[in-house]
Amino acid sequence: MDTPHVVPPVHARIVEGLERIATALKSDDWVRAQTVGLNPTQLAILRALDTRDGGMGVKELALLLGVSQPTTTDSILALERKTLVEKRGDPADGRAVRVVITGAGRDAVRSGDAAPGAVARATAALEDEDQEQLLVQLISVIRQLQEQGSIPIQRMCVSCRHFRPYAHTDAARPHHCNFVDAAFGQQDLRIDCRDHETADPSIRAATWMVFEKDRSPQPPGD
Ligand code: SF4
Repeated sequence: MDTPHVVPPVHARIVEGLERIATALKSDDWVRAQTVGLNPTQLAILRALDTRDGGMGVKELALLLGVSQPTTTDSILALERKTLVEKRGDPADGRAVRVVITGAGRDAVRSGDAAPGAVARATAALEDEDQEQLLVQLISVIRQLQEQGSIPIQRMCVSCRHFRPYAHTDAARPHHCNFVDAAFGQQDLRIDCRDHETADPSIRAATWMVFEKDRSPQPPGD
């Protein structure tokens, strides 16, 4: 018996934990998608398009969902047959096509997401403070994935040109969003904001430094 003498490193056990959660999320996705007669990739495409009024290109969708372009193309064709999406010319590029959600597609997203999944219920059961800490730690991991080029830039506050971390002295609402010109708290940090605009790399790095520095506990005597 190796436990507890040979313990895998913390990061390896965190990945084990994330794998368990990913399995539960996959199961939630299947249940939701089947409710509206789709598969999880098709519902994920509708969800992505639901918050992007200008639609998305096929390559952009494939990158966001982490699936191949042929799989994305097949899913879009199936959604088009069900009149849940439609293709339109790209005003910025005469040869490109944008995929846009229809009213029926938005209805499908609402129906699919109506019942919270098991992971949403388990997360909601945590104390408020624990939810906030988990949110911030997840943002840190997602940002690392972006920085190492494993995933595209996500629509998070920490990569947004409108984000001013710790612009206010109010501990409950220290951050500022220039887009809506309002203060907000750590628990309101966004991971997928429809109003997000990607900041330049140097601004993103500077913003992250302020966010990291000011959220870290200060050593005694500082
Ligand atoms: S626009 Fe959205 S992502 Fe950007 S700072 Fe405001 S809330 Fe955050």
